[in-house]
Amino acid sequence: MVERLRVGGPYHARVLDALTSVPRHRFVDAALVTQAYEDTSLPIGHGQTISKPSVVARMLDVLMDGVTARAAGHLGRVLEIGTGCGYQAAVLCCLSRHVVSVERIKGLHDKARDLVAPLRMNQLRLVYGDGMLGHPPNAPYDSIIAAACGASVPESWLTQLAVGGRLISPVDGASKGQMLVVVDRHEGGYQRTEYEAVQFVPLKSGSI
Ligand code: SAH
Repeated sequence: MVERLRVGGPYHARVLDALTSVPRHRFVDAALVTQAYEDTSLPIGHGQTISKPSVVARMLDVLMDGVTARAAGHLGRVLEIGTGCGYQAAVLCCLSRHVVSVERIKGLHDKARDLVAPLRMNQLRLVYGDGMLGHPPNAPYDSIIAAACGASVPESWLTQLAVGGRLISPVDGASKGQMLVVVDRHEGGYQRTEYEAVQFVPLKSGSI
């Protein structure tokens, strides 16, 4: 899988190393294990999917390009919205100092907790709740990454982004469809850049 990504890249070597070190097959159901290393999203229950490896690589690569903490070769303090099965959270741990990942579906939050436990990632904190509110107790974050698509970037994420930090999220631009959006926070304000079209599950408010 990583060899195929290398061809489709270029991606930061550290992103490819992180993808190499997290066993994706451990995050999908037994019946789907043979497809675990294909470049495809797969069902993880509760109507949700594990993101496509090339999309995970792309988003992490853009994050690595942007944050001030990259001077230290990592993403710093990270907030992920949409833990799902925990796969991307585990990959993020290989690139960060501390990761907080929020999931609104209790069944998935519990599943992710069980799946990441054997990996012994001490710098990972899984939170059950509404990620549209971000997670104020650990703010500010050097990097924020959303795995679900809303109509706009919630205000709470912008407030919780550190100065010098970078946020990446799919945003549904109505007629244009879903686009990958990057927001950089500078001393003087925020700079928003649109990237390519993408396809993500919806960002929903509240927790269930
Ligand atoms: N990164 C995940 C991808 C999961 S799909 C992985 O590697 O598996 C996106 C997830 O976002 C879904 O689990 C969905 O329940 C969750 N989600 C949607 N809206 C949310 C919200 N407001 N807060 C937290 N999670 C949310």
